[in-house]
Amino acid sequence: MIDYQYARYKMVERQLASRGISDPRVLSAMQAVPREVFVEEGFQEFAYEDSPLPIAEGQTISQPYIVACMAEAAQIEPDDNVLEVGAGSGYAAAVLSYLARYVFAIERHETLATNAAARLAKLERHNVEVQSGDGTKGFANKAPFDAIVVSAGGPTVPVALKEQLEIGGRLIIPIGPQDRSQRLIRITRRAAGHYDEEDLGGVSFVPLVVAHGWKDDTRHADLERHLPDLIRQAAESLPAPEDPRFADPFARFANRRVVLLGEASHGTSEFHQARAVITRRLVERHGFSIVAVEADWPDAAAMNRFVRVDERKTENPPFQRFPSWMWRNTDVFAFLAWLREHNATASANEQAGFYGLDIYNMRGSIAAVLDYLDKADPKAAAVARERYGCLTPWQNAPHTYGRATLTDAYRSCEDAVTRQCGELLRHALKESRDDTLFDAAQNARLVTAAEKYYRIMYYGGAEAWNLRDRHMFETLEHLLDRAGPNSKAVVWAHNSHIGDARHTEMGKVRGELSLGQLCREKFADEVALIGFGTHVGTVAAATDWDGEMEVKRVRPSLEESVERCCHLSRSTRFLLDFARHAELANLLAHERLERFIGVIYRPGTERLSHYANVELSKQFDAYVWFDETHAITPISPQATSGPVPDTFPSGL
Ligand code: SAH
Repeated sequence: MIDYQYARYKMVERQLASRGISDPRVLSAMQAVPREVFVEEGFQEFAYEDSPLPIAEGQTISQPYIVACMAEAAQIEPDDNVLEVGAGSGYAAAVLSYLARYVFAIERHETLATNAAARLAKLERHNVEVQSGDGTKGFANKAPFDAIVVSAGGPTVPVALKEQLEIGGRLIIPIGPQDRSQRLIRITRRAAGHYDEEDLGGVSFVPLVVAHGWKDDTRHADLERHLPDLIRQAAESLPAPEDPRFADPFARFANRRVVLLGEASHGTSEFHQARAVITRRLVERHGFSIVAVEADWPDAAAMNRFVRVDERKTENPPFQRFPSWMWRNTDVFAFLAWLREHNATASANEQAGFYGLDIYNMRGSIAAVLDYLDKADPKAAAVARERYGCLTPWQNAPHTYGRATLTDAYRSCEDAVTRQCGELLRHALKESRDDTLFDAAQNARLVTAAEKYYRIMYYGGAEAWNLRDRHMFETLEHLLDRAGPNSKAVVWAHNSHIGDARHTEMGKVRGELSLGQLCREKFADEVALIGFGTHVGTVAAATDWDGEMEVKRVRPSLEESVERCCHLSRSTRFLLDFARHAELANLLAHERLERFIGVIYRPGTERLSHYANVELSKQFDAYVWFDETHAITPISPQATSGPVPDTFPSGL
């Protein structure tokens, strides 16, 4: 059962107050209205996400933040007479009803208007009236209005609305071409024929997602124009990653206990190559003995046997399941071949191992869930694919929520699939029992927690994300403990895991934590979080979970993104060390968009599915830039020759 009251409280705190909504009356109105009543059947689970959601007639219920922004901008007093144009679900009208004396709301679609009126009546909001009709003409009978709030974007301001304003009245309206970014405008009627107009900032209706808050800080804006110059000055240029000198500037991080190396996608060759050359250096010269990656434990354990020159056979060849290219590619295999060679000649305390941090056989379990659902209920399988497909659990694209809405069949399969996952786990544990590095205590911990893991993973969402990152952190701690007080680890995982989630939308808005954050909390300045980024190129990714790998073009980064600033610095490859460049770090501590491509890339909905706001210089300690990047070269699951080093055991 979802605790809506708590979810609403969190929404007000994270999505509104922390983003600059400060009017206490607006915040308490947002706290008062149960948004779950206004969403469609099946969507209640998502009612307090930071996103618009689909409603009937192809329309959307507004993002909570945008409703609060508009309500605040309208400066509504308790005695005000208010008009809303575009009532939709009735949600914004309900919020306005807590602020004003009376609210008239107009909605073009009759069925939406009827449903909105019914919801408001059920909630006993007696000071709201919803009518169907064309709101661009206003509502002459009820005019004049102290405030008019228009919930749909248009190219111009309808004259009727201006004329229905009381003297001193405010009209809040998004203006701009459809499907593009609009400006939120406030028009104040000063006298009969005299209106003032203010631009409150950029918004994107519909869906109503706000890129930035609308603080007007001109000094900051001025400085931002110089951001590419500052980046160019701070950038420590890097050679191609094939050149071992690429690793030189990273020696400064060698005294840390844990060095976390990110990636901006799971299918980019340059990121893997860079991580490999840096890791080689840390292993060869600086005593790092643990390479821990965002992979399932059993698959990585097979690779660990290979790099440890342990010729025991592996029953199931590793990294066979979706997304196999993530680790089964020429860059990773070249690194593993090097590590094996290194270990073959190194003394025992100079050797390094290769470990998987992810929830034990997570991908195997997901495959089993999909297998089961494909047979039992293909519709539920489609829901599962959507849920697993999100990099960070739910994204801002309203249609994503639509496809991921739970059916009764999905719920009824829960017991069967968790049981199957449990069996899979027991089998995998039996197979890797000889892996002495993974001791009985850790196994026992896994088995106890397994059912909880599988139940939560089955439903996805923030809770599943947090469980997974906590598990990754505990596994890393466990590996470090086993290797002794002087042990050091390199971690390879996506930027979304290795970055500090407290300084991104993930933590600030969605309540998600990250491996990088947990490492900072425990090891403080003994960790280095190093992010990676790119402007353009190609990437290996699928369109849906379980889909074929495709080589896709990465679109040029968006104007408001950190990537675009790096691109405009006109430097092809570099390291930014924020600790050494305070002014740059200060500027990059302001929110900008960052692109996240996982195993799924959907260029068509890129802004909504792949960008999130971050404070780059707080998210990471350092940032590695490749202006142009290329897709990895996969190694097919059957391959035993070609790019597969001939020392690999045949099972690989
Ligand atoms: N405030 C609503 C958001 C609805 S989206 C909520 O909180 O749920 C915008 C709505 O405006 C849609 O329902 C759309 O049908 C309606 N709309 C668009 N043009 C309109 C017009 N000219 N008159 C009345 N409603 C309009």
